[in-house]
Amino acid sequence: MLKLLLAFLLCGIFVDGSVNTKGLGALLSPKATIVNTSSGAPRWSEFDAPTPGVVVNVATEHDVLVTVQFCISKNIPFLAQNGAHGWSTTLNLKQNGILVNLAGIKAVSFNSAKTQVTFQGGALVSDVVNTSYANSALVTTGTCNCVGTLGAVLGAGFGNLMGLYGFGVDNLLSLNVVTPSGTHIAVSPSSHSDLWWAMRGAGPNFGIVTSAVMKSYPANSTGLTAWNGPLIFTGDKVEALMEAIGQINLQAQMSMEMFFLISGGSPIILLTVFYYGTEAAGKSAFAPIYAIGPIADETAIVPYNQWNSGGDAFCTKGDRKPSYGAGLAELDPTTWRSVWDEWLAFAQIPGAEESAIILDVYSMVKPRAISDSYSAYPFRSTVNYNAIATAWYANSSLDGSAETFGSNVRNLWRSTSGLSSNSTYINNAFGDEDLSVVYGQNLGRLKSMKAAYDPFCRFTQWFPLK
Ligand SMILES: Cc1cc2nc3c(=O)[nH]c(=O)nc-3n(C[C@H](O)[C@H](O)[C@H](O)COP(=O)(O)OP(=O)(O)OC[C@H]3O[C@@H](n4cnc5c(N)ncnc54)[C@H](O)[C@@H]3O)c2cc1C
Repeated sequence: MLKLLLAFLLCGIFVDGSVNTKGLGALLSPKATIVNTSSGAPRWSEFDAPTPGVVVNVATEHDVLVTVQFCISKNIPFLAQNGAHGWSTTLNLKQNGILVNLAGIKAVSFNSAKTQVTFQGGALVSDVVNTSYANSALVTTGTCNCVGTLGAVLGAGFGNLMGLYGFGVDNLLSLNVVTPSGTHIAVSPSSHSDLWWAMRGAGPNFGIVTSAVMKSYPANSTGLTAWNGPLIFTGDKVEALMEAIGQINLQAQMSMEMFFLISGGSPIILLTVFYYGTEAAGKSAFAPIYAIGPIADETAIVPYNQWNSGGDAFCTKGDRKPSYGAGLAELDPTTWRSVWDEWLAFAQIPGAEESAIILDVYSMVKPRAISDSYSAYPFRSTVNYNAIATAWYANSSLDGSAETFGSNVRNLWRSTSGLSSNSTYINNAFGDEDLSVVYGQNLGRLKSMKAAYDPFCRFTQWFPLK
């Protein structure tokens, strides 16, 4: 009882001011560095981004452990940074905090049968994909090279191969985790099985993963290719496209990602289609989309190590990019016309031309063959699509209009989502949502686990379960 009361009193209460790292350097490995700057590790979005007093660039998994132990002993708030793409406003580390930069631990290796990949906590999607390609194996990563592999996977992990193999969390085999009590433990179905469930959907609330083992899928040279690329449509096709995307038979081999973009000064719809198979099979599967009449078709057979190249422009770090996400069960064409209008009005403001609307359409064949209770990702059986409104600009004077744009678009999506309650993939959430919007029906169980595993709320930076 006393412990719980103490936890309640301490949660989220940290000493203000600068960070005193005296003594930490002696604990770290020789290649680790401690940098006294708030700009030591640039982020994808500078909007409401963490502004730590100190960045610790770790060089070994043990460095993560000793840094967390140091922070715990001195009551210093901390945040692990991996690919630096988390945009949630709940990441709010200030000058009194330490950013644990995982970029220095990113080794990737395979077992001899190529059925398991082991990668460290700071490995980006590009690190995993490039090593997998070199090892003739496929891994269920996200679709942007620059994102932290575990940053995406610990929330669920959406990607092109999930129709065939499931979410990233469905492919994890074990995790090495630095815990809120400052220990380094193995978490797997047979070791801390409750934490194993919670980490796979709510991971950053319970520890820092220093390395993970995941399933991988050996592939021959044909299996290391897919048919994919962009189809371009004019803005008058919004309703027809939404109708077609909503009705298409999304086989396990298929996925789509749609963008509203300004290109060469004109608004366009760019729809990336992906088919794990031949061009003929892909074109046949996407026939209802072709029937709408793209004005350009840049699809081709593409090697695995280039599947994500189309997203590289979206990887650019810096500028302000407040982003609002919403999960959808269905696509309402009229709503999407209003979304187009809202987006165009904002993107035509000078300096905001890079702003985009994104719709992720992934096959749910394999994820839905797995039980809802398998992991803490809560929307396996309800959400079919993930939509995001990203305002992108450099000048903070646009913050107010950007937030109005993002929340207006999110309200439009929510009004016709087809869901019984608002449900947003945690990695796409803006940060102002009720916790039930991101944790769904698992909120109660996760809160109990948080109280047991992190009673002093050491991990408070990412949709904190307090
Ligand atoms: C351009 C872009 C493309 C995206 N594409 C996809 C996609 O294809 N699929 C998808 O599912 N999502 C995607 N996302 C969303 C993405 O999953 C989230 O933004 C995610 O939080 C980014 O992880 P990160 O490591 O890059 O960011 P960070 O900001 O470094 O991390 C985000 C959060 O995860 C925590 N974290 C990261 N690594 C670890 C670790 N090893 N152990 C414990 N906690 C950790 C951090 O502490 C932080 O709280 C994309 C986002 C962007 C901006």
